[in-house]
Parts: sequence; structure tokens; C-alpha cells
Amino acid sequence: MIAGALSLDFINTLDDRFSDEPQELLNRYLDLARFGEDAGILSETQLEPLLLRCVHSPARAKRALERAIQMREAMHAVFWAVVQKKPVPKAELMILNSYVQEAARHMSLVETNGRFAWRFDDVGNEFDAPLWPIARSAAELLASDQLQFVRACASKTCAWLFLDASKNHRRRWCDMTKCGNRAKVNSFYKRRKHAFGGTPLA
Ligand SMILES: [Zn+2]
Repeated sequence: MIAGALSLDFINTLDDRFSDEPQELLNRYLDLARFGEDAGILSETQLEPLLLRCVHSPARAKRALERAIQMREAMHAVFWAVVQKKPVPKAELMILNSYVQEAARHMSLVETNGRFAWRFDDVGNEFDAPLWPIARSAAELLASDQLQFVRACASKTCAWLFLDASKNHRRRWCDMTKCGNRAKVNSFYKRRKHAFGGTPLA
């Protein structure tokens, strides 16, 4: 969870997207549920009944996972176009919109001590439930003035998306420990190779 926005973290669950071997992190419904737990959109008490239902309705769980991936890929297409300053693909935006509308059907306003907040329907009994807050997060980010700060990691194979909340808005890496250090090490080797006239490193 490094992206600074739930929807972007979700997009990044296809790791090394542009490499020869992209890594799918959502292989089972359980992976989606765990993502929901890590992201704080499913509590432990909500997770348990969902996982129990997986055992009884594996086909429905599988279908929900397929929908999650369809939504993720539509989200990626839209955000990627924004980051690349290219026209947003209409078909993908339509798919994303269908998920945003679905999410809205499961939201209501709740009031506590004069303050209002959005709340999603009780998630314990719907396989699609983790998708709602993620779709909502994408819609909010796309419609916000923060959209201009969505960036792609400077590593060509990684290309994780993140919200650059740094002061000068010059963050380049998804995560210093993941790609930043790798890039630093590479440039260190390059410099060293140059300095030593191409002598192989011990
Ligand atoms: Zn990266």
C-alpha cells in the first residue's frame, strides 16, 4: 500500500505490468479479500463470513474475482491514459462507470453527532463488496484536482501508479525500497563501470 490512493494500489496488483512476465497478485478470491483487509476496507469480522461463503459458493467467488480484474483493467486504462496525457478510451471509461454506479447503489449517508459520512452496505454477504470502495476511490480521484499528481513509477517494467503527495511533486518511484534503490544501484554500477573502463565487477 504505497500509492496514496486505494484505487491506485488496486491497479498495482498486476505487478511488473509492462515486463515480459507480469505478476498477477489476485489469483483467488482470497487474494482480493486479503487486499481488502490490508487496505482497511474489510475488517476481520467482515472477512470471515466472506471467506466462509467462498467455500460454499466457489463459482460466485470466482465470478467476483473476474469482475474485480475487469474493473482493475478498466481503471488502469483510464488512469494510464491520464498519466500519458493521451485520450481516455471511452469503452474502458464505460466499464469503470458501470462499477462506479454499482458502488453508488450500495452507499448511504450516515449521521453521527452532526457529521455525515458515506457508508457502504454491510459487506459480509456480498462477494462484490470489496469492489465498491475501490470504484468509489477511483471516481473521487478522477474527479478531483489531485488527478494531476497521479504518476507512474519511473521504472519502465514496474510502472506502478501512485499519487505524488510530495511537496515539490517530483516523486519518481513507486517505492524507494522497491524501485528507487534498484535504480540507484544500477546507476552506481554504470558509473563504476565507466570509471574503471568497463572492468567487470568482482
Ligand atoms: Zn516501481
